[in-house]
Amino acid sequence: MKIKKDDIVLIISGKDRNRKGKVLDAFPREEKIAVEGINIRKKHVRPKKQGEKGQVVETPGPISVSNVKLICSKCGKATRVGYKVEGKKKYRVCKKCNQEI
Ligand SMILES: [Zn+2]
Repeated sequence: MKIKKDDIVLIISGKDRNRKGKVLDAFPREEKIAVEGINIRKKHVRPKKQGEKGQVVETPGPISVSNVKLICSKCGKATRVGYKVEGKKKYRVCKKCNQEI
């Protein structure tokens, strides 16, 4: 999968379109990611102890990687990701500025 944890991505479809966020979690098997502040789901947490109040916790729900574009950490543009192989090392490159990301 081309998007990894801690990447900054731009949402390109859905209700959070044009918003940016940091990838908090990546699920390569499902081709999905969870992005900070995007696709927020409210989860009700029951009180663990008597006398404690239940809480509503907001957590980002997973979204498909096809709905995001990576923001290049080098040039700051929303870009597609390419790969370069040098010997045994494989790394990601920005299609806009051709730098390793
Ligand atoms: Zn770039």
